[in-house]
Amino acid sequence: MCKHILNAQVAIRAPCCKRWFDCAECHAAVTDHPLRKTDEMVFACKKCKKAFRKDMTDYEEEDEFCPHCDNQYVINAVTPEARIGIETEDIRVDNRVVKDDRFRVKTEQINNIFDIDGSHMLG
Ligand SMILES: [Zn+2]
Ligand SMILES: [Zn+2]
Ligand SMILES: [Zn+2]
Repeated sequence: MCKHILNAQVAIRAPCCKRWFDCAECHAAVTDHPLRKTDEMVFACKKCKKAFRKDMTDYEEEDEFCPHCDNQYVINAVTPEARIGIETEDIRVDNRVVKDDRFRVKTEQINNIFDIDGSHMLG
């Protein structure tokens, strides 16, 4: 199970070392050489477990589907990094909004206190 692309639909056979990987990062994690780029990639569908080749120089929309079971394997990758990034971003935005609200409420309360104090002193 690849921890980089959580919804990987295919394994890729590295042309350099002839081993199967879920993604280029998995390859980088266990090898000491860069993943060799090739015009013809070999995939293995995780759904039907069959291998197929794709010419990457002539890649069309219909090539996003496994030729054996029509499983769409080119999908937006769900990566843990992206999810953490979005969560961090959300938390930061939320904190800023909460802080701003508290600050505004505090200022209003202080103003109200001054107003009440002022009216009390005047009264
Ligand atoms: Zn390799
Ligand atoms: Zn991976
Ligand atoms: Zn398939």
